[in-house]
Amino acid sequence: MEHPENDEAYKGLTVNSGIIHPDSVNPYLKASRFKRRELSVNDYVEGIIKGDTVILSRAVTLIESLLPQHQALAQEVIEKCLPYSGNSVRVGISGVPGAGKSTSIDVFGTHILEEKGGKLAVLAIDPSSERTKGSILGDKTRMEKLSVHPKSFIRPSPSAGSLGGVARKTRETIILCEAAGFDKIFVETVGVGQSETAVHSMVDFFLLLQVAGTGDELQGIKRGIMEMADGIVINKCDGDNVERSNLAASHFRNALHLFPMPDSGWAPKVLTYSGFYGLGIKEIWDMIYQYVDFVKANGYFQYRRNEQNKYWMYESINENLRNSFYNNASVDAMLAMKEEQVLQGKVTSFAAAKQLLDLYFAQMKK
Ligand code: GDP
Repeated sequence: MEHPENDEAYKGLTVNSGIIHPDSVNPYLKASRFKRRELSVNDYVEGIIKGDTVILSRAVTLIESLLPQHQALAQEVIEKCLPYSGNSVRVGISGVPGAGKSTSIDVFGTHILEEKGGKLAVLAIDPSSERTKGSILGDKTRMEKLSVHPKSFIRPSPSAGSLGGVARKTRETIILCEAAGFDKIFVETVGVGQSETAVHSMVDFFLLLQVAGTGDELQGIKRGIMEMADGIVINKCDGDNVERSNLAASHFRNALHLFPMPDSGWAPKVLTYSGFYGLGIKEIWDMIYQYVDFVKANGYFQYRRNEQNKYWMYESINENLRNSFYNNASVDAMLAMKEEQVLQGKVTSFAAAKQLLDLYFAQMKK
């Protein structure tokens, strides 16, 4: 029997026979109707320069794609957009989860768009997305006002690859956004360590978001990160948190005095504000624009961008070499075996690395 449930023993229960699945629900509905037209390099570049955000989004998707043909196309688009890029203020915004990054970016963003006009792009670098393959930073739903603002473009963190790879994609996205006329760029990252270095390597101003807590916030934040900051802002300075926030601000000011003067010649400032209630926002943006005027006047603005370009050249070399090595079939075939030998103490780490590299270089010569 096809359905044993239809037996007398299961009285009251009937299971109908299935039908053969039709080939297509509607034979006239061709899949190709929905296929998007492939764009040429020039289509992308023209669209981007016109400020077409749909095309900009598609170009960013190309940058993020792992397919070699997409990557090659993306590189051509980036190259052609490069002459139109650079005219922006790039601000890195970092803070631990819960520090109020999305709330703050929402109010900061709407504030500067109202105050200065222009267009704002919000991008992100989220190292955690490497594990989860999904990104929480730069998520539109977390930025209610900006996400519906006609002059804003929000893009979550690229999710695949190493931190270096993710950061490179964000940096390339900056170039496209600038070419599309976005003159204000925010790059959001979560304050957990290396990602700050990545963001610092692509922005003009690095803003560190803090919240006053139990009084031990200074211990929780690494010296290197504080040294990177051009401004530290203490969020949630509202309600019964005002006193604690002011105290935290003076702790940070004292701590910053112990650091040598940064190369920019700008002494980092510490301000308190409330993202939620929109208090002290103007002061923060005045500080950032003061900084930009200051470093443009003393030459540090261009110096820092040049240094960043140099840094990204080396990063790009490193990433390509690494990918070429690990994607090499012979290396891949031997890698697990060498790892096992190292674990069993049969060969040292250095000898194993050398054998793998020798194999790789021999392959390259062929
Ligand atoms: P993120 O994880 O750093 O992006 O932090 P969110 O912006 O999501 O904020 C975390 C929580 O802090 C949310 O519940 C916000 O409502 C709250 N919050 C953010 N800014 C403020 C503020 O200025 N004052 C107060 N009291 N709460 C805030």
